[in-house]
Amino acid sequence: MTSSSVIHCHDHDCCISHALESAQNVCVEKNIRLTPIRQRIFELIWSNHKAVGAYDLLASLQQEDPKAKPVTIYRALDFLLSAGLIHKVASLNAFVGCSHPETAHNSVLLICDNCHDAKEVEAQEVYEAIYEIGRNNAFQPQQLTLELHGFCDDCQQT
Ligand SMILES: [Zn+2]
Ligand SMILES: [Zn+2]
Repeated sequence: MTSSSVIHCHDHDCCISHALESAQNVCVEKNIRLTPIRQRIFELIWSNHKAVGAYDLLASLQQEDPKAKPVTIYRALDFLLSAGLIHKVASLNAFVGCSHPETAHNSVLLICDNCHDAKEVEAQEVYEAIYEIGRNNAFQPQQLTLELHGFCDDCQQT
């Protein structure tokens, strides 16, 4: 399987069902449980390709269950992050669904400053290069997040 391709379908329901199928496979493989609430929050994150914040997720969930609490969201987000099913967009304090959770990957997130669309693109060589800079400076690299801000295809000014 190639890990560099980004799943993008004409019919967005198809993106969601792809994502859900991958998530279920990952959970079976890792022997962890995608409970109904975790799955629902995963689906809400995947409702489009934009980065979404915890409070927006809470607001969406409360439309279905008025008693939904922030802790429910945070627990589900922790689970989805540690399972590698979503990525945190640190610069926006928001979250986006991972487009290929079944394979290990190092990506750069291309984040549109206008519509907050967040697209994941493989950038393994860049990670290697930056880790190398760390090691060359007597530093032991652990974690790196690359987020590139700009304007997406739809939002570029001509
Ligand atoms: Zn990913
Ligand atoms: Zn955009």
